[in-house]
Amino acid sequence: MRYLLDFDRTLFDTDAFKKAVLKAGYALGTPESLEKVDASRFVFSDALTFLKTHAKEDMYIVSSCTGFQSVYDRAYQSAKIAKSRVDAYVADVIVVEDTKVDAVVSLADGETVFVDDMDKHLSAVAARCPEVHVVHIGRSAHYPTTRTVPSIASLSELDATIEALCR
Ligand SMILES: [Mg+2]
Repeated sequence: MRYLLDFDRTLFDTDAFKKAVLKAGYALGTPESLEKVDASRFVFSDALTFLKTHAKEDMYIVSSCTGFQSVYDRAYQSAKIAKSRVDAYVADVIVVEDTKVDAVVSLADGETVFVDDMDKHLSAVAARCPEVHVVHIGRSAHYPTTRTVPSIASLSELDATIEALCR
């Protein structure tokens, strides 16, 4: 199984990280904030367990750097992912500016699952890549939608959910 995983609010507790950055007195989305606040403390524990218990060559991060504030950019997003240190557990990290569809099309290989918290990514991938298993992860009520794909609350539920889909 190939896993294409979103970063923010899928692997990474973005909301807690942003709170910590602001509390420490730094502006969001700045290189300075990444130097001062340790991003590796904000990886969800189930995400870390998931990454550690699956083969590195099956894991890809597909992250979009838009959707927050205009100050966020590709360099910042890549640096944030590197600082979180999850890149040690994945074959590659792909940071895109907006749509993830092209990245998913090029990475999909055999049985593939795409996990994200944002409906716009889930629906775009589901529409363009019907062969890819699309799974919503609901870490928070940040992006309420009317999505119609299977939903999980943490990555510890992912493999059982996929197994049920394939049955
Ligand atoms: Mg996300």
